[in-house]
Amino acid sequence: PLILFWHRRDLRIQDNRGLGAAREKTAKVVGLFCFDPKILGGDDIAAVRVAYLVGCLEDLAQQYHQAGSQLLILQGEPATVIPKLAQALNVQALHWNCDVEPYAQARDQAVTQALSKLNIEVNTFWDQLLVAPDAIRTGAGAIYTVYSPFWKNWQQQPKAQPTKALHQAQGLTTQELEIAKKQGMIPLPTAKELGFIWNAPLYLDPGVAPAQARLAEFCQRAINSYEPDRNFPGIAGTSGLSAALKFGVLGIRDIWTASREAQAQARSEEALGAIRTWQQELAWREFYQHVMYAFPELEQGPYRQPFQNFPWSNNQDHFQAWCEGRTGFPIVDAAMRQLNQTGWMHNRCRMIVASFLTKDLIINPQWGEKYFMQRLIDGDLSANNGGWQWSASSGMDPKPLRIFNPHTQAQKFDAEAEYIRHWLPELRGVETADLLTGRISPLERQACDYPMEIVDHKVQQQKFKQLYAQQKN
Ligand code: FAD
Repeated sequence: PLILFWHRRDLRIQDNRGLGAAREKTAKVVGLFCFDPKILGGDDIAAVRVAYLVGCLEDLAQQYHQAGSQLLILQGEPATVIPKLAQALNVQALHWNCDVEPYAQARDQAVTQALSKLNIEVNTFWDQLLVAPDAIRTGAGAIYTVYSPFWKNWQQQPKAQPTKALHQAQGLTTQELEIAKKQGMIPLPTAKELGFIWNAPLYLDPGVAPAQARLAEFCQRAINSYEPDRNFPGIAGTSGLSAALKFGVLGIRDIWTASREAQAQARSEEALGAIRTWQQELAWREFYQHVMYAFPELEQGPYRQPFQNFPWSNNQDHFQAWCEGRTGFPIVDAAMRQLNQTGWMHNRCRMIVASFLTKDLIINPQWGEKYFMQRLIDGDLSANNGGWQWSASSGMDPKPLRIFNPHTQAQKFDAEAEYIRHWLPELRGVETADLLTGRISPLERQACDYPMEIVDHKVQQQKFKQLYAQQKN
């Protein structure tokens, strides 16, 4: 019997639950990936993410080849093209790993229905999280909407071991491959053929080997000083694994095991604390996926009432300046240039620019959320929405109002202005103190071709607080 395994955000054959379960049933396991026009044609897609995805698929095809099987590629509406192929190949079952996103769930339901009409079995698994979204509840039986108690419970949950890689599998015969071609199977397209051009180097090279190497190196060294290094955008103090996590290039159980091994080898209390902090970030990722699963309305906008009809200024020129990194606030502009040039931004800076957009420019956080999705290599609905709602104080978070002062942030986290100078080379000659306080004279700004501050932080902060107070009452 033939089982098709449909890959979506689990682009690997190692530590993959749905795929492992398929291999336990039969040797004839063939991979499948479907380019969905709804996703590729959406307004929240990024060229850099497609480039990374296609690179990972090339690698995945190689992995299948080495395991003795193939990866089939389709393009089209999944509920139409997948059942058609499955029927023509006379498959026994389709397996896939579940997703928390509202669109993914609706899509999967449509595919399941179409397959059931053809009497083709569907088996689904929770794979991308260490703790499945319906597996934990508060004492009162509710979904956690606050992170700290979530973490307390989450960390005590048993974590499964990595599953075995696909091995000694069997692919389609030449005849079956001919049938698959007639049913729409295509060679893997390039990102360019899909309509996306990304010419800069990728923040993380695609495929399993680069991600594994990054994880191994991180767990050898940087993880031991993750706290406090993770806060400084000028230091490579974080793992840089977000794109690999987004597309499941590494299994989450493999990642967890690596962090446990680092714990076992840690030589100081500080290192143990730092590793624990990194594990807490993995738990933030899970927390945001759990709440997205339980409260899909999060995707539509602010969760908390005061923000539901908020009178945002939504100044188009300000938004444009923010996108381009030309607000006149060095730390904000440096961060936006990093995003535009590399497709990645340091977490500290994501918080700074998100706070700036919502609290200083008083622009709807959904604009920023969408712009991030259009630029990030790791752009992910749950994490991005969670990050934006946290920064806008509109999400599930006990602390109601959080306003970052961009200058104070720069002073604390980029004290030598190294990060600022790296991304804003036109400001290289400006005194560090001036870069950090923003007290750069109009003349000097002009000489550097660097704009004046587009708003006054203090004035805007007051304005935002007033608007917030009005909305709350
Ligand atoms: P590390 O510090 O090494 O952390 C390890 C992993 O934990 C990350 O790869 C990521 O998978 C997860 N993680 C870490 N912090 C968070 C967090 N706060 N929330 C959820 N998961 C986390 N992360 C994304 O993966 N995709 C996004 O689209 C995204 N958008 C964000 C938007 C805003 C406004 C903010 C404030 C944060 C956003 N984050 C997002 C979270 C975080 O900034 C990135 O995960 C992190 O910077 C990635 O770098 P890293 O892999 O080196 O992280």
